[in-house]
Formats: sequence, structure tokens, C-alpha cells
Amino acid sequence: MTSDVSHSPGAARTLDPAAIAHLHGIMKEAETAPQRDARPSLLGMSRQEIGLALKSIGLEDRQIRMRTAQLWHWMYLRGASSFADMTNVSKTLRTELEGRFAIGRPEIVTEQISVDGTRKWLLRFPPRGAGRPVEVETVYIPEEGRGTLCVSSQVGCTLTCSFCHTGTQKLVRNLTAEEIVAQIVVARERLGDFPLPGIAGPHPEPGVAVPSEGRLVSNVVMMGMGEPLLNFEAVRNALMIAMDGDGLSLSRRRITLSTSGVVPMIPRAGAEIGTLLAISLHAVRDDLRDDLVPLNRRYPIAELLEACRQYPGLSNARRITFEYVMLAGVNDSVADARELVRLLKGIPAKINLIPFNPWPGSKYECSDWDTIETFAEVVNRAGYASPIRTPRGRDILAACGQLKSASEKMRASERLALLAMAGGNGED
Ligand code: SAH
Ligand code: SF4
Repeated sequence: MTSDVSHSPGAARTLDPAAIAHLHGIMKEAETAPQRDARPSLLGMSRQEIGLALKSIGLEDRQIRMRTAQLWHWMYLRGASSFADMTNVSKTLRTELEGRFAIGRPEIVTEQISVDGTRKWLLRFPPRGAGRPVEVETVYIPEEGRGTLCVSSQVGCTLTCSFCHTGTQKLVRNLTAEEIVAQIVVARERLGDFPLPGIAGPHPEPGVAVPSEGRLVSNVVMMGMGEPLLNFEAVRNALMIAMDGDGLSLSRRRITLSTSGVVPMIPRAGAEIGTLLAISLHAVRDDLRDDLVPLNRRYPIAELLEACRQYPGLSNARRITFEYVMLAGVNDSVADARELVRLLKGIPAKINLIPFNPWPGSKYECSDWDTIETFAEVVNRAGYASPIRTPRGRDILAACGQLKSASEKMRASERLALLAMAGGNGED
């Protein structure tokens, strides 16, 4: 859903019946069905929290640092999904840990693979304590030389942007840091992307260098379901784990946090997370942006752009990405493009033009390719990179703004409408 590859309009393509049959065929049933789990999960805890958890089961202070490092290494470097795999931890301690804590994975309810190789997983997290299970979607987009994981931060979204499918799903709840980190861990596990596959081999020692080249999941974008800056702590804690050099070790320059413009949280995101920033702008006038992104009524364009100008570390090497969805006849004129250039003056920026991805019931149409290219040219001539995002995974409703988890399931008629759309719009 987030491929930033410059795109030249390709030949119109329709899905053939074999591809549609393929789509139906790949819905994969869960292999395991987790039960309610009262044990707290160590996945998603900071090192300090793991230390406290170990203390609570009676581990001596002098052991805590070393054990924490071992657990961290097994969970995030080796991708261990069970304490039993941790062969350099004593058997007694492994049994004790197993009884008191979890590090398991959410259930993979479905795995869909698009004709273009994009994968979408519907994950179900077991209820912890008195809660109910929640379901979220995570999307993997393979590209030449890199692979981007699109991670969700909330189940549903409160912000009701008029062009976004997720916005039609009521907020069910914020995801926890565990649930956000688990999306990355599950994707890497499913893709066979842990650096030392399998658990066989020499005992790993904490501090072993992790190769970061050649990874399948090389980039993370917080562009799945939800508004990450309305779930700040959990997103921050999860991304700190994702960036930790002794574990998942994703570079902060390969993580992008996308916001629809929660202005007061932007400085905090810069100071406490420090990843790249993407802003869902979509309109250059407040009256239109009020309609498309209702949050604009609270934080209008001028305030949003001021927060961008102040974003810590902003430079040509760390430009802000402005996302701009192309809606036919709504925001796609040459005058809009010129105004965009004027507004962004002085901000190191890249403008990502996103062809609108339709979903059942959506009231917009995507701008045609000539219009998008003309818009891109105006922006480009003003000195801004203006890649047109190649829509990915539309056939499985995995493209930008199409996510909506089966916490609210699609009706069969909606699925058919979707398949018809994937085959019929000829824009991919
Ligand atoms: N809530 C955050 C991140 C998730 S949305 C945000 O709004 O930024 C990720 C991107 O997809 C945003 O730029 C969003 O505006 C865009 N998007 C939403 N619906 C879309 C659709 N139907 N077609 C294309 N892009 C869409
Ligand atoms: Fe929420 Fe982002 Fe969708 Fe708006 S575009 S409804 S903020 S997920």
C-alpha cells in the first residue's frame, strides 16, 4: 500500500478468472487458535519492564540484567516463539517463565496474497485479562531491493476521513505496544526473515551483530489502521523496540510515522520517537480539508505546517513526506498543485501522490492518469520529488485506506463488489 516508486501509467489490466479463483483459494485458515491467556506477554515490554517481571518471580538482582538480555535476544533477534527454545536459559527458569509469562504470537486468521505479491494478514490477539480478542490487519509490500511492512496502531479509527475505509469502522480500541510489535515479529516469522532461521545452531550470545542488509522486512510504515499519534505511548514504546540495535534493529530512517495532523503530538513524536514523518495533507484549502480530514477543523493547515517546520532534525536528508490522495474533480487541479507548492515553501519535503483506492460504498473516484501526471509535473518542476504511489494489493483490499478488520466483517456482496472493482478500474 505504500510503494513510493515513480509510476508511469501502465496498460489497463483486468483480473482474469484464474486470478480471482486464486484470490478465493488463498484465504488460509488459522493453524492455531489461542485461548484466553491470563499471562502477561513479555513481547512489547521495555527492558526495564522485563527486569521488573523477572524480579516479580524471585530472580536475584545480579541475574536480572543478563537474563533480560538473553530474553531480548531470543525474542527479537532469533524470533523465538516459546521459552522452550531458549536453550541457554536453565530448564528450571524456562519452566517458571512458561508458567508466568507469554511470548506467543497472535493467531493468523487469514493470509491473503495479492496477484502483485502484496500480503495481508488478519491477526487476532487473545484477550489478556478481562478484555475481548481484537483483530487487526497488517500488510507486507515486497519491492525491488526492499520490503515495507504497513503496521496498524488502532482497531478502527475515530477520525472519519471521508475517503478512508478504516474511518468507517468505529474505534474498537488502541493497540498495545505488544500488539504493535507482534505485527512486525509475525510478519518476519511468516516470511522466514529472522537472521538465523530455525532454532538449531550455536547458542546465540547477546551482542552478536545482526545483519541488517538483505532483510525482507526492511522498512516499516505506521500507515495501517488507525491514527498513531492518538495512541502515542504504545506506538512510541513499540517503535523503540523495533529500532533497538540488539533485536529487530530497524533503522529509524526506515520507519515512517504517518499522521492525519494531530498537531500537539508532532513535537513529541520528533523528540521521543524520531522516525521519519509523513503528513496526510490531501487538500490545500481549509474548507476542503475540513471535509476530507475532519480533524482539520481542530488543527487547520497553517498550524499543521508550522508544526512541520519545527519538526526536530528536519533537513534535506530527513524530509517530511506529504501524502496527497488524488480524488477526481475534488483536489486534483493545476491550481491545487500550484497552491501546494506555495504552502510548502521552505519545508524540506517530498510529495507522495496516492491514487485514490476505492472501497465498497466510497463516494470518490480516482483522478485519471493524465491529471495525476500533470499535477506531479507542477510539483516536480518546483523542485519537490513527487512520486506517484503504485497502488498495491487492491485486489485483496490491502491498499492505502482500504483496511478494515473483520472485527466488522465484510458482507459477501461487498467482497464481490471489491473483486469487480479490482478487475474493472484498469489503473494498476
Ligand atoms: N491515520 C494515519 C495513517 C493511516 S492512513 C493517516 O491518516 O495518516 C495511511 C495513508 O493512506 C494516509 O495518507 C491516508 O490518508 C491514506 N488513505 C486513506 N484512505 C485512502 C484511500 N481510499 N485511497 C488512498 N489513500 C488513502
Ligand atoms: Fe483514520 Fe488515517 Fe483513515 Fe483518516 S486516513 S480515518 S486518520 S486511518
